[in-house]
Amino acid sequence: MGRKYATKRKIAVISEHASPLTVVGGVEAGGQNIAVAELTQQLAQMGYMIDVFTRWDNDQTPEIVHWHNNIRVIHVKAGPVSYVVKEDMLPLMDEFTQHLIWFMHNEEEPYHLIHAHFFMSGLVAANLKRALGIPFVVTFHALGEVRRQCQGNCDRFPAERLAIEMRVIQEADRVIALCPQDQDDLLTFYKAAPEKLTIIGNGFNPDEFFSLETDMARRVVGLASAEPVILQLGRMVPRKGVDNVIQALGVLRHQYTIEARLLIVGGETDDPDPSSTPEIRRLQTLADEAGVADLVTFTGRRGRETLRYYYNAADVFVTTPWYEPFGITPLEAMACGTPVIGSNVGGIKHTVRDGRTGFLVPPNDPKALAQKLALLLTNAALRERMGQRSRQHVQKHYTWTQVARQTADLYEEIVSNESSADQSRKQRQQQQSLPGLIAAGKLTLR
Ligand code: UDP
Repeated sequence: MGRKYATKRKIAVISEHASPLTVVGGVEAGGQNIAVAELTQQLAQMGYMIDVFTRWDNDQTPEIVHWHNNIRVIHVKAGPVSYVVKEDMLPLMDEFTQHLIWFMHNEEEPYHLIHAHFFMSGLVAANLKRALGIPFVVTFHALGEVRRQCQGNCDRFPAERLAIEMRVIQEADRVIALCPQDQDDLLTFYKAAPEKLTIIGNGFNPDEFFSLETDMARRVVGLASAEPVILQLGRMVPRKGVDNVIQALGVLRHQYTIEARLLIVGGETDDPDPSSTPEIRRLQTLADEAGVADLVTFTGRRGRETLRYYYNAADVFVTTPWYEPFGITPLEAMACGTPVIGSNVGGIKHTVRDGRTGFLVPPNDPKALAQKLALLLTNAALRERMGQRSRQHVQKHYTWTQVARQTADLYEEIVSNESSADQSRKQRQQQQSLPGLIAAGKLTLR
C-alpha cells in the first residue's frame, strides 16, 4: 500500500440494528451488516482501532466480543436483550446513547471519530457529538424519504425519521452517499450542503468471490450441468422485486419458449421454509399463477462461504428491486464473472454497465426483463464477453480495500481538521460526568 495512514486512531462505529456478527440473508440482515463487517476489517488492518457498537439482541452473546485484531464488537443494552424489528427501535435509542456515554466515559483512550450507519445511529452520533465533542460521519444506507415514496403505506418507520435525518445531515461533519443517485436524493429531498457529501460505494471481497468452473459450481449446488440457470439472491422482501423475475420466467417460457431454472437464494432459515419466510409462500403462489412453479427452486439462506458457487453456477444474475441504495449482490455476481441484469435504479445503474457488463431494465417490467434474459441465455459468446468485462470492472473499482482507502482518506480529513481540539475532547470524554451531561440537557434525544 503506497499511502500511510495514521495508526492508532480510535474509531467508534455505530450500527444500531446491523451487527457485523449476524448471519445475513433474511428480512433484517443484509448489505449493511456486510458493509460494516468488511469495512471495519479493512480499516483495522490499516491500523485503526475499531469499536463497533450494536444493540444487544441475544443473551447468548457476551457484551464485548474481541472479533479480530484491532476490532471489538460491543453489544449495547437498549431495550430487551432479544430481537426487535428495526422499525420499533427508535424509542430505544435514548438508552443506547446513555450506555455509549457511560462506556466512552470509562475508556482510557478517547475516540477520534464516530462513523454512524443508518439514521438511528446517526441520531446517537449527533447526541454524542453534542455531549462529548466527537466529530462524526454518517452513511444512511437508505433514506426515509426515498423509502416512503417507494413503499407508501407499507413503510412502518416512525414519521419522525425524516426530521431526524434532516438534523443528522445538518450536524454531521460529513455524509457519505453510496452512489450518485443517493447523493442527488440527499441534495434534493434533504437540502444537504454539497460540500459535506462524499460518494463512497460498497464493495466485494475478492477472497470470497472469484470465477470457478461452471460445471463444478453446479455440482456443488446440486444443479444439472446442461440447463440454463438464472440466479436471484438477496434478502426476501417485496421491494427486491423477486415477483418481477418470476413473471419474466413465465414470459420466457410462454412467449420465447425458453425454459430456464430460476434459483432463489435467501430467507430466514437455511431451508426454504414458508412458515419462517412468508415471502416464499407468496412467491410460490405467484410462480403457480405464472405457470412456472416447476422451474423455480427456493434454496433458503446461504452462508458467505458457499455463495460463490451459486454465482458461478448461474448463466445470468438478476436483481430488479423497486429502488436500491447501493446493491452489493451485483458486485458479487460480477466478481464471479456472471453478467447481471439489474433494474435501472439507485446504485445498480452505476455498477452495472448497460450493454457492457450486463443490462439495465426498468423495475416491475417482466417483459423488458424477459427480452434481455432471452438475449443472454441464447448467446453464450455474449455471456462470456460480458462476464469477463464484469470481472475486470469490479476488480478495478469495487474491492473493499478500495472502499476502505477512500473511507480512511475521509476520516483523516475530518480528524486532521480536528486535531487541535483533541486535548479538550479527551478531557470532555473522560471528565464530564454523566449526571452532569443529563443535567445540562445534552442527552435529550429529539
Ligand atoms: N446474502 C447472503 N446470504 C443470503 C442472501 C444474501 O449472504 O442467503 C448477502 C449477499 O451476498 C449480500 C447481502 O446479503 O452481500 C445483500 O446486500 P445488498 O446490498 O445486495 O442488499 P441489502 O441487503 O442491502 O438490501
